[in-house]
Amino acid sequence: MKLSGAPMDNKQLLYDINELNDLFRESASIQMLLDRTVAMVASHTESEVCSVYLYNSEHRELVLSATRGLNPDSVGKVRLKLGQGLTGLALKELRPVCEKDAAHSLNYKFFPGIYEERYQCFLAVPIVRGISRIGVLVVQRQGDRYFDDSDIEALEAAASQLANIIENARFLMAMHEPQALATAVLPEGLKLVKGKVASEGFAYGLATVTDKKKSLSMLLHRQYEHIYSVDDFHQALARTADQLEKLQEQVGQKLSDAASLIFAAHMVILKDKYFVGGVLKRIEEGVNPPLAVLHVAREYMESFATSGNAYMQEKTHDIEDLVVRLIGNLLSEVDELEKLKHRIVITRDLFPSDLLILSSEEASGIVLVGGTVTSHLSILARSLRIPMVVSDTYELLNLPDNTPVLVDAEIGNVYVDPSDEVLGQFESQQEARRALAEQKRAMKPVTTTRDGTRVNLFANINLLADLKVACEMHCEGVGLYRTEFPFMIRSNFPSEAEQFTIYSKLAELMPGRPLTFRTLDIGGDKTLSYYHDIKEQNPALGLRSIRFSLQNKPVFAEQIRAMLRAGAGTDLRIMFPMISSIDEFCLAREVVSECLDELEKRRVEHNRKPKLGIMVELPCIVDLIDDFAAEAEFFSIGTNDFIQFMLGVDRTNENVADSYLPHHPSVLRALNKVVGSAIAAGRDVSVCGDMAHQEPYLPFLLGIGVRVLSMDPGYLPRVQDALAEIDIREAQALAEKMLAQSKVASLAQALNLVTGK
Ligand code: PEP
Ligand code: MG
Repeated sequence: MKLSGAPMDNKQLLYDINELNDLFRESASIQMLLDRTVAMVASHTESEVCSVYLYNSEHRELVLSATRGLNPDSVGKVRLKLGQGLTGLALKELRPVCEKDAAHSLNYKFFPGIYEERYQCFLAVPIVRGISRIGVLVVQRQGDRYFDDSDIEALEAAASQLANIIENARFLMAMHEPQALATAVLPEGLKLVKGKVASEGFAYGLATVTDKKKSLSMLLHRQYEHIYSVDDFHQALARTADQLEKLQEQVGQKLSDAASLIFAAHMVILKDKYFVGGVLKRIEEGVNPPLAVLHVAREYMESFATSGNAYMQEKTHDIEDLVVRLIGNLLSEVDELEKLKHRIVITRDLFPSDLLILSSEEASGIVLVGGTVTSHLSILARSLRIPMVVSDTYELLNLPDNTPVLVDAEIGNVYVDPSDEVLGQFESQQEARRALAEQKRAMKPVTTTRDGTRVNLFANINLLADLKVACEMHCEGVGLYRTEFPFMIRSNFPSEAEQFTIYSKLAELMPGRPLTFRTLDIGGDKTLSYYHDIKEQNPALGLRSIRFSLQNKPVFAEQIRAMLRAGAGTDLRIMFPMISSIDEFCLAREVVSECLDELEKRRVEHNRKPKLGIMVELPCIVDLIDDFAAEAEFFSIGTNDFIQFMLGVDRTNENVADSYLPHHPSVLRALNKVVGSAIAAGRDVSVCGDMAHQEPYLPFLLGIGVRVLSMDPGYLPRVQDALAEIDIREAQALAEKMLAQSKVASLAQALNLVTGK
């Protein structure tokens, strides 16, 4: 990691996580980790002093937690209120504070005995993760070696990279401040279980049931015949650390959007002297090491679970995962790293980060039991190409490990210990699918209807992994990049530098084509475990999408800056989700123009003229559409939410699926109005919701004038074939006929006629 000299290359910095990994590996405790961090930053920035102050939000106080260069005795003693001194000011105002003669500055706060007066040059940058203040990173130099803009940029980049590690360390340090086992048997008669498809595909393999809560209680209640030694425990610690590093590497290689340290919390706990010390103390008292680990882990989990803080509660999950791995290594019964390879994982809880881990461990398929599958969890599974079925059959959790299971996630069937006949059918279907997949990839670069009308096919991108498929399919641009995915798969808000790196990949892989970035669309059923700790009565109508961004401007601005920077030299389009009024659009546009000014002032390369548009997802937009056309430069119709809100039907609730009607007359007429107004005003309009790939609706969409469709890349070949069958005049006549209908039943009939069903 290079931190001084020429302006930072954030990309290089972000990907060089080896040095951070080394920090973990070589640190025996949290304090040592912080000590090494300040030493590293001091050396990279050629500063005599580097210090980390951690922020305690309850006491609104910063505490000097590690220093290189100041009096080491002052660690833990120097405390500053938010806003106090230059350091407190940096955190209060969330900006760098840079002074040439710190001791004479108005805001300077003198502390006797730490001897910082001798360092005149001072630079402090806040350490922030999303909306939470974590601490301050300070560097100081003697004489006239003043800090300049490139130092500020470098220190900010370091602070954003270190934020994740430091945040985990901070929680653990704060925590230490004073203040039914049954042998699994194959359930009788369980042969075929019906469930719901969450991500299509087939998978066959041996089952692993990973109900962590159950496995923790099983580990606690089992009889340990062997007495393990302190050495065994130390070896298990080392092996676990090694495995976590390897997994981290695999995640980074497979999914570069997840390249941040997703195992940071695991690694920090492994180094926590109270965790390790607590276990060793119990071993000394005669407790067998596996039980000693479990006892200490339980104390941690209880304390995290009752903290009332969403971030801490998320950590409970990490401890469970860590402890199961650690004890597995201690008992050496299974190879913890290979444990899930080619397995069918049957589980009760599933977070987006679990999906990433399962994917990097090469699990073949997933059966989620009793859980609700948010639309985005299934989108993520699809992007990761992991077949997944959701089932209400709890007996599946009692399946003995190693039971052969076939997951048919094309129709939602789970076969337990399938017969040879079922397996034979599965094999031949697999063959057919492979042949079809080959055939599908042979797509034409240009899409036209039967009469030669040009249609543009764009891709919806969730993970960078989708880009590869989109490129193979000759897609003509990105119609919707759902930027919430990098937010959902991490355990904390990604920094601007991380977002910049991810967004740059889009620009790199789709040069010269339109790139439409949607700003953060969280809330509703897309929750962030580290943020959504306040339960809303009605999250679909709550603090979500653009409302969240406008209420959390620093997070919003970080994202916009990352887009503007990554979009330099591209056809960049920024789109705001869930816009409900022109006023809201203007507020969002103002944030973009502030970011443009800031980047201009800082002379950072960026896109100076991004197109700004909106998602049409709320019915209240329809009557204002002509007025919107005077402000927004393009429209993208998100039919999934548009139908949900127009008809008041939850798009994820199977019980009301029959009422979710894309062909409801009001939906069709509203779509017609939006498209007509956009075309009349000369604004681009596209459809990016699921209707864009559903064949029965294509003639209607073309008939009302839609010429740009955006969809998950996997659908593109099928849609291209379907479009080639459509004649525009016929489609227009059909649309006209449909718009005149007022009954759902007649419209359904009209659609059936079109599709020939
Ligand atoms: C939509 O609502 O149609 C849409 C494309 O957005 P998302 O599915 O991400 O909510
Ligand atoms: Mg939507």
